This record gives sequence, C-alpha cells and structure tokens, in this order.
Amino acid sequence: MNRKIAERAQCTHSPKDDREGRRRNRQSCVFPVQSSSRVQCRQNNLSETRRVLKELLTWPELEATLKATMTLLPGGYHRPRDCESPKRLAIIIPFRDREENLKVLLNNLHRVLQKQQAEYAIFVVEQETGTPFNRGLIKNIGYVEASALCHFDCFTFHDVDLVTESEKNTYWCGPRAVHHARKLDIWNYRQLQDKLFGGVLTFNETFFSTINGYSNLFFMWGAEDDDLFDRMLAKHLPFEISKYSRYTTLGHARLPKEEEKKWAVYRPGKNRYDSDGLSNMGGIYRLISVDYRPLYTRIYVSVNHTDVMARIKGYGIKV
Ligand code: UDP
Ligand code: MN
Repeated sequence: MNRKIAERAQCTHSPKDDREGRRRNRQSCVFPVQSSSRVQCRQNNLSETRRVLKELLTWPELEATLKATMTLLPGGYHRPRDCESPKRLAIIIPFRDREENLKVLLNNLHRVLQKQQAEYAIFVVEQETGTPFNRGLIKNIGYVEASALCHFDCFTFHDVDLVTESEKNTYWCGPRAVHHARKLDIWNYRQLQDKLFGGVLTFNETFFSTINGYSNLFFMWGAEDDDLFDRMLAKHLPFEISKYSRYTTLGHARLPKEEEKKWAVYRPGKNRYDSDGLSNMGGIYRLISVDYRPLYTRIYVSVNHTDVMARIKGYGIKV
C-alpha cells in the first residue's frame, strides 16, 4: 500500500489540517496520482449492455468480490495499472440511511469504472441525522471537500439508487455537462422530458463552478435539479444526454414531498444564482470526519439547518 495513504488511513489529523495542506499545493493529493505509464488508456471491449448485480452482500464479501486490496487504495481510489488516464474523476454520492442501495451501487460502479480504465475516487457524502436532508448542499459539499483532498478534472454526482446498464456509459467530462440517467427501468426506458436533470450528472470543474454549483436552499422537497438546469441555461452552457442512458433503479422508502415549499423556493431562483451556491458555503455546514474506507471515502457532515432557514428568509421566501 502507498505509504502516504497508509498514514492517512490511520491518521489523527483533523480534516481541516488535511484541507489546508491540500490547498497549499494544487498538485498534491491524498491519493498517489503519478502514473508510471505513458500509454493512454483506451475504452476497448466495452459492452453496450451489462447485467446489473443486485446480490446483497456484507461489507467484507463486497470488498472480497471487488478484490479491493488489489484494485483500490483506501478511500475507493483506483488508477489503471498499465496506462495513463487522461482525466481524474470524482464520483460524489449524496447519502443518508440507504446502506443496501450503497452496497449494490458500489458493487456495480467499481466494476464499470475499472472496465472503462478510469482513474477515479468515490466519495460518499453523508449528512448527519437530525436535520432534513439537503441534496444540493450535500453535493456542493462533496465538490468542495473532494477538491480539497485532490485535484479532479471531472465530477459526477450520482444518486445512490441508480445503476448503469451499459459499460459504454463513461463518466469523462468534456465542455458539455452530461445527463446520464435519462432512461429508467421504472419508466420503461422512455426518454424523460427535457427539463428533468437529476440522478446522475457529470460536469467539468470549470462548468460546475461557473454555474455556482447547486442551490443550498432546497431540503428534500426536490427541484434543486430544475434550479441547476436553469443555472446552465442562464450561463448559456451546453449539455448532452449520454448515448447509453439506461439505468436500473433500486428501491427505497419514499419521503413525503412538500410541493408548496419546493415551488416557493424554486420560483425566485434566478435572483440568486450568484449568491446561493458554491460561493456561499461558509457557516452552512461542519465537516465532522473524513474516513478512507476500503471502497470509498466517507465525508461525514452536519448541516446547519438554522442557517439555511435564515438564508431562505433573507431572500424574502416564506416556507
Ligand atoms: N438520499 C439519501 N438518503 C435520503 C434521501 C436522499 O441517501 O434519505 C440521496 C440518495 O443518493 C438518493 C438521492 O439522494 O438516491 C435522491 O433522493 P431520492 O432517491 O429520495 O429521490 P427520488 O429521486 O427517488 O425522488
Ligand atoms: Mn430515488
């Protein structure tokens, strides 16, 4: 195991020390990113369809079947052994209380990404219990905290309950944002309406910071994806739909949606694209811990609910 990672895996540094260290040197990374190969990785032999693995395994079984000790470094980082990958990908999964979904997703995602010869790390960003789940904020936190640990070229925001059905559905980023999860099994793979822009999305770093990330103001009411779509349009930034956009959905309990609150926050959205998002992360969350687990890096955070509510009120929105 790489020494730097081994030290970090058992380190006693606070996450804040880690972040400050990383910020000092943009090239430095908690993962060993230098490649010894000059051969470019290629996406050969990818099949258009694949069997989604749905077996429920224990964590040790999962680590064994994925050969984690050979293919991954702690934190769920992988670099192809015999070739140089053109981009480094951060996969960010917003998460709370969906462990079964997470295990199934990881079992599929690691296999697909490795078949694609991607260099990547998987981040599971978990919100502490006690406050309502805030998906947009959690994804923004994933972007900020992953970037503080290492430089990534591409960011994929990946719901925990969606599994790709094609190895050709790659997660590299270009100038356009990519919407991957467009045709879902539960909708008989019908192409969803244009504006639906959730589930699995890839951005390059500049793209995501230009739109100022997600709004931080939506709790589990939904519509933060609609708001993100509007942000892209407002900046005239292009997007595309993955050619291989079929996904299998994993079951979970449903949270009640609060339609009125959702629209109350969504409607005046365009007034705050530049003041609500990545530019305003101060005080809105606290990093509890960063854990380099065998299959993923767990970023555990507490969301300052009072602060979010005060911001909503500050925009004159009544919820
Ligand atoms: N999520 C989670 N725990 C929750 C709520 C949401 O982990 O209690 C994450 C998870 O990644 C999930 C995503 O947020 O896939 C979207 O939420 P959900 O699946 O509930 O929304 P849907 O799109 O199914 O309405
Ligand atoms: Mn879901």
